[in-house]
Amino acid sequence: MTGDGYMARALAQAESAASAGEVPVGAVVVHAPSGRVLAEAGNRVETDCDPTAHAEVLAIRAAARALGAPRLVDCDLYVTLEPCAMCAQAIAHARLRRLVFGAYDPKGGGVEHGARVLEQPTCHHRPEIVGGVEESKAAALLKAFFAALR
Ligand SMILES: [Zn+2]
Repeated sequence: MTGDGYMARALAQAESAASAGEVPVGAVVVHAPSGRVLAEAGNRVETDCDPTAHAEVLAIRAAARALGAPRLVDCDLYVTLEPCAMCAQAIAHARLRRLVFGAYDPKGGGVEHGARVLEQPTCHHRPEIVGGVEESKAAALLKAFFAALR
C-alpha cells in the first residue's frame, strides 16, 4: 500500500467518526518496514467521554499494544488533520519515524501552529513531518461536519 492508501484509510476512519457525532479526524499507524497497518482509529471524545481520546492517541496506544513495545520506532503515523499539542507530544514520546498529516489546523494545531511542540528544545524526538497530504479531502470532511452543526 502506498502513502495515499494509508491516508485513504485515515480518511475512512474520519468519516466513521463523523457519523458517530465525533469531530472527523482519523489516524493510522503503519509499521514501515513491513507496510503493515498496526492500528487505526477515529476520534472517540464524545463516545468515550474522554477529552484525550483523539484519533492519534488511540491509534498510538493500539499500535504499541500490537507491537508489544512502548516506542513505535519504525512506524509512521498518518492523520487527517494537523495534530494538536497533546498529540504532537504523544508522537514524540512514541518515537514515531514519520508524521504525515492532511489538513493544516491554524486554530488548534500544535505542529505547524501554536506550540509547535516538535520544534521545542524540550522535545527529544522529532519525526520527519509531511503536511498537506489529501488536504482538500480532510478539510472538506471537517467543513461539512461543522456546517451541519450550525
Ligand atoms: Zn490531538
